[in-house]
Amino acid sequence: MEIKLVGVVGAGQMGNGIAHVFALAGYQVLMTDISEESLSKALATVERNIERQVSRGKVLPADKRAAMERIKTTLKLADLGQCDLIIEAATERETVKQAIFEDLLPHLKPTTILTSNTSSISITRLASRTDRPEKFMGFHFMNPVPVMQLVELIRGIATDQETWESLHEVVRKLGKTASSSEDFPAFIVNRILMPMINEAVYTLYEGVGSVKSIDESLKLGANHPMGPLELADFIGLDTCLSIMNVLHEGLADTKYRPCPLLTKYVEAGWLGRKTQRGFYDYRGEVPVPTR
Ligand code: NAD
Repeated sequence: MEIKLVGVVGAGQMGNGIAHVFALAGYQVLMTDISEESLSKALATVERNIERQVSRGKVLPADKRAAMERIKTTLKLADLGQCDLIIEAATERETVKQAIFEDLLPHLKPTTILTSNTSSISITRLASRTDRPEKFMGFHFMNPVPVMQLVELIRGIATDQETWESLHEVVRKLGKTASSSEDFPAFIVNRILMPMINEAVYTLYEGVGSVKSIDESLKLGANHPMGPLELADFIGLDTCLSIMNVLHEGLADTKYRPCPLLTKYVEAGWLGRKTQRGFYDYRGEVPVPTR
C-alpha cells in the first residue's frame, strides 16, 4: 500500500521534527495536538529549522515552501481518519497513548498503519488494545529528528511482514537508516543510554561530581558530544524518568532504579530545556548549572 498522507499526534519536540522530515520527503502531513498553542509553536519551529537548512545550502527555498504547504494542523483527532500512516508522538504516558488510539480507531480506514514513537512502552501491549495489532509497530525517531540518522523499528509480537516492509520503505524515503529491535523495555538505544544518564544523576546525587565536572568528564574523557546531564535536559527529564520506570518495572531489576534526584527535578517541574530549567538553567545568555 502506498503511503501518502501521514498523521502526527502530538506536536511537541518530536512531533514537529517528524512533521518536518516527512513534509520535506514529499509526504502530506496532518498534525494534531490538544493545544492550539502547541500546534502554532510546532509550525513556527518547523519553519525555523527548515530555514536553517536553507541557509546552509541543504534545502532549496522552493522545497522549503512546498514542505511547509504540505503540513496541515487540526485540533480534532478524528480528522486523521483518512491517513495511511499514523505516528503517535504524544506525552510518554501509557494512559495518554491508549486514550489516543481508542479515540482514533472508529475513524480509521481499515488499511491505516498505526505506530507509536514511544521511547519505552510495550508495543505489543499498545497494539493489543487496538483492532489491528498486525498493522501496529514502534516507529522510534531520535531527537532532533531532522539531524539524527537512526530510526528504530520495533516489531510487536503480532506485527505482520507487510507492515514491517512498508515502514522500512518509508525510512528509506526519508533518507534515514532503520535498525531493528525486538519489543522489550526501552528497545536498544534507550536500554543502553538511559541507565548511563541515570548513573550520571546518581553521581551528582551522591556528590561524586558537580554538574559541570560530570558533563566535562564524559565529553573530554569518553568523547561524548554532549555530557549526560546536558543530554538529559535536551531529552526532557520527565521522559528520562518515565523510561527508567519502564525499565525498572519491565525488567524487575534494581539496577534500573530511577535516581531520587531525577524524580525531584521532575516534581519541581524542572524538565530541562523545554521548561528552561533542569540540570542547567537556560533563562540567561549561557546555561548555568543548577547544582
Ligand atoms: P513533548 O512533551 O515535547 O510533546 C508532547 C506533546 O503531546 C505536547 O505538545 C502535548 O500537548 C501533546 N499531547 C499530550 N496529550 C495529547 C493528546 N491526548 N492528543 C494529542 N496530543 C497530546 O514530548 P516529546 O519529547 O515530543 O515526546 C513525545 C514522544 O516521543 C514520547 O513518547 C517520547 O517518549 C518520544 N520520544 C522522545 C524523545 C526525546 O528525546 N524527547 C526521543 C524519542 C522519542
